Amino acid sequence: MTNRLLGLTGFTGTLILPGDADYHEARRVWNGAIDRFPAFIARCSSAEDVAAAVRFGVRHDLAIAVRGGGHSFPGLSVCEGGLVIDLSPMRSIEIDPEARLAQVGPGVLWAQLDSAAEAHGLAVPGGEVSHTGVAGLTLGGGVGWLSRQYGLTCDNLIAAQLVTATGDIIEVTEDAHPDLLWGLRGGGGNFGIVTRFTLRLNPIPIPLYAGMALYPLASAEAALKSFLDLARTAPDALGLNAALITAPPAPFIPPRLHGTPMLAVAACHTGAHAEAEALIRPLRTAGDLVFDGFGPMSYTVLQTLVDDSAPAGFPVYARAEWLGPLDDLFIERLVESAWRMTSPMSQVLLRITGGAIARVPAADTAFGFRHATAMLTVASMWPDRTASDSAHRDWTQETWQAMQPWSAGGGYVNHLQDEGPQRVRQAYGEQTWQRLATLKQKFDPDNVFHLNHNIPPGDLTAS
Ligand code: FAD
Repeated sequence: MTNRLLGLTGFTGTLILPGDADYHEARRVWNGAIDRFPAFIARCSSAEDVAAAVRFGVRHDLAIAVRGGGHSFPGLSVCEGGLVIDLSPMRSIEIDPEARLAQVGPGVLWAQLDSAAEAHGLAVPGGEVSHTGVAGLTLGGGVGWLSRQYGLTCDNLIAAQLVTATGDIIEVTEDAHPDLLWGLRGGGGNFGIVTRFTLRLNPIPIPLYAGMALYPLASAEAALKSFLDLARTAPDALGLNAALITAPPAPFIPPRLHGTPMLAVAACHTGAHAEAEALIRPLRTAGDLVFDGFGPMSYTVLQTLVDDSAPAGFPVYARAEWLGPLDDLFIERLVESAWRMTSPMSQVLLRITGGAIARVPAADTAFGFRHATAMLTVASMWPDRTASDSAHRDWTQETWQAMQPWSAGGGYVNHLQDEGPQRVRQAYGEQTWQRLATLKQKFDPDNVFHLNHNIPPGDLTAS
């Protein structure tokens, strides 16, 4: 009834308005620092619902935010006033093990896709926290445990169904709209709303060999040297991460170390277990090891290992950078930053890239920085939203700044805060940026989809 009164014709989902019982739950996103009050939340159950919602938003000149998993760091999937097109009910997954393809709804979270695919011994290389959305992560790139072997998530995007700025539903394939498919592989939500992702599935062993080891921060420099030495020669089958964290009060960590800064070195290997064990040996023997958690495990277990370190609802401020060659001074600076962490929930994460990521020619997708050696993410998270956050933000900013000498030249679209247009442009690189702006002019000339890391339509002179 409300839908008809509002002129939201053809919409069969749920419209949530301020004052409705579930309004506050529905406007909440993962980053607890974001507190916005949309005028309408349209919970969609089909591509037709999404199309109706887009037409409604355009007709009423509403800012449109699109919500997949709700994990955007700057909270791009919720807006002040305006319309949220919420895709979270669209969680269908179809696995075709013969064709090795998955048809994935835009509200699906990685936990669901990982377990549906693993049942067939298959996986899409995805993010490393299982409650993150497949949609946003795929459209911005997608770096995870399997990326060195099977590429980024966007490299595994074969086709998509898309609702355009005019409310049309189109099929995007290599044959129909190859330019658009190129743009969806890294260009974010700039060109429309994806209502179905066709993703390539890749074989994984069950179990695979993975896990992590913990060192006290005093031993971190030696352990990081071993980690980076291994990274320089690692085969594609070996995924590698290192993180500077605060030791949680977990039973496997000696009580004297609870609440102290630590280094976690983590790996995932998709080959024979004996080979994996030999390869990761330097990660276990680099000093005063506190915890050794390597061994056979399922991919779905690996994918949830650090879920608890990224709980929803806490304020977060993160900065990220693609990195070039790394040396001993980099390690020293990184470890220094961990001694100064202002919250036990904060962390510095180093993901080793290269392998299959680097082998895709730069012009083949809209994703930038394929040549980087690693991605650095400095994330502060703190427990109290009402307390002053400046110390936490300053630590993030100062740590990120201290690492600039090792920058490969820009940041990662999926890890950008609200850092301004120049930084978005930098994240793509000049040639890709110009191509994206031309594509945006073709598919969204009025910038209907602007609540994202925005590409201005056709704006070749933007600075
Ligand atoms: P949302 O906030 O729903 O969406 C993010 C952006 O995508 C918004 O601009 C939104 O409008 C747009 N969007 C969403 N769905 C659609 C759609 N169907 N069509 C068009 N546009 C859409 N990144 C990695 O690469 N690897 C990781 O391991 C990783 N781990 C993370 C862990 C955590 C805890 C968090 C918070 C983030 C992580 N990220 C990682 C970053 C992640 O890729 C981005 O935050 C991503 O945007 C999340 O997607 P989402 O669908 O959950 O977010």
